[in-house]
Amino acid sequence: MFAGYLKFADACPACGLDYSAEDAGDGPAVFIMFAVGFIVVPMALVAEVAFKPPLWVHALLWLPLTLGLCAALLRPLRAIMFALQHQHGAAQGRLDGDDAAP
Ligand SMILES: [Zn+2]
Repeated sequence: MFAGYLKFADACPACGLDYSAEDAGDGPAVFIMFAVGFIVVPMALVAEVAFKPPLWVHALLWLPLTLGLCAALLRPLRAIMFALQHQHGAAQGRLDGDDAAP
């Protein structure tokens, strides 16, 4: 369903579903920030309290882990967000009477 690392293809190659309505925006990134922070921050705190490593050890451990987790989770979560939007018919908010407008 992807044409690049994060770019959606124009349509589903199997069923022809139009992907142009895909608009997850920052949704996947926000969820990933919470999830990865929830994983990495406690690990860093425990490591600091237990081992008191120098700062470069923290940088060496947590920067690659954080970047790796974010890169690994971004694509599947983007696909999940699109699947949920499609399944639940998500669209822009509308008010009553909007249908009458041109
Ligand atoms: Zn399909």
